[in-house]
Amino acid sequence: MSTLYGAIEAGGTKFVCAVGTGPSDLRVETQFATTTPAETIGRAIAFFQERQEQEPLAAIGIGSFGPIDLNPASSTFGYITTTPKPGWAYTNLVGTLERVLGIPACLDTDVNAAALGEHCWGAAQGLDTFIYLTIGTGIGGGGMVNGQLIHSLIHPEMGHIHVPHDWETDPYAGSCPYHGDCLEGLAAVPALRLRWGEPPEDLPADHPGWNLEAHYLALGVANFICTLSPQRIIIGGGVIEQPQLLPLVREKVQGLLNGYAQAPQILEEIDDYIVPPGLGKQSGVLGAIALAYQSSR
Ligand code: ZN
Repeated sequence: MSTLYGAIEAGGTKFVCAVGTGPSDLRVETQFATTTPAETIGRAIAFFQERQEQEPLAAIGIGSFGPIDLNPASSTFGYITTTPKPGWAYTNLVGTLERVLGIPACLDTDVNAAALGEHCWGAAQGLDTFIYLTIGTGIGGGGMVNGQLIHSLIHPEMGHIHVPHDWETDPYAGSCPYHGDCLEGLAAVPALRLRWGEPPEDLPADHPGWNLEAHYLALGVANFICTLSPQRIIIGGGVIEQPQLLPLVREKVQGLLNGYAQAPQILEEIDDYIVPPGLGKQSGVLGAIALAYQSSR
């Protein structure tokens, strides 16, 4: 049986497809813009069919934007469900890929896939309860509790928690189409762009926007610490590449918790507690490889 796996990191703006077995063996990788479901999934299928002509794939893993249906008993299992992304609501990802490629497909959220990648090969190795957050076009969170990726009712939507919003300090109303000023509505890239009038990568390092951004992210992180008691928090995504941001978030998380959570990881070793992804930008695609591996066992 083949031990080569396919991987899709299905994002709202781009799809990344790869084949391989792990971090030291990612053989072919391609990426293209997310357009219509037919065109985008068609391009992914063409990529894997071409690979299959050379060597069989054992399974394919998909880390996808959502919301997605992960309940095996549901009639829309394996679908992207109520996404506001035009044309993508109720798209059958798993069924289409399995039927056309003739191999098992395993779907999870983009952030759960990235968390799994970090657990196998990155910053969450050896941990059983941790979270992976991404701060980009949206804010998402996934992870493991007691060694299991979090699914349950639907899947976590950590970006849509509500955090205190001081309208005097920050009169921006928020950009989430569902909630306005939820965490994503206040702290994802569209919010930064609309609040400050330019893309976040153009804001100088000493711009007050970064302090406010760190404040919102720290509020989210402090809530997740109090709720899930994670052994580590991994934060990825484009926004966190600003080098001044993560140290600010760490400092503000300590301030918000105010010595209450008596863990040396938080009180003394926070640089090793709130960390960037160990796999850099490859957590998602490697996590999809790990999903495929699990589904073929
Ligand atoms: Zn929201």
